Amino acid sequence: MAQQKCDNCGQVITKKEIQHSLLKGYRPITCNNCGTVHQIKEISKLIIAMLVTFPVVLLVLLLSTAIGLSGIQTFVVGLIILAITIVSLPFIAKYELAKNHEL
Ligand SMILES: [Zn+2]
Repeated sequence: MAQQKCDNCGQVITKKEIQHSLLKGYRPITCNNCGTVHQIKEISKLIIAMLVTFPVVLLVLLLSTAIGLSGIQTFVVGLIILAITIVSLPFIAKYELAKNHEL
């Protein structure tokens, strides 16, 4: 998986920085080296929204009734899916230079 880099100076944006940004509602990432602000691409937001909601909804609506999971079991499995999704999000999220109207 290609590493995310600053569009301006090539400084690597770490997975940790991306994760922080995502958990704080797609907060823009400022490059440590040159201060260039990057924001998440709109398409990434869309993909993430689907990845976060779709497996959980699928689980709750279909699997839990099909397998006969109890409420607490569904909740635990849902949390595990959510955790896996959050860990994998930095690989999915793509950032681009911030546009002026956002700042
Ligand atoms: Zn930079």
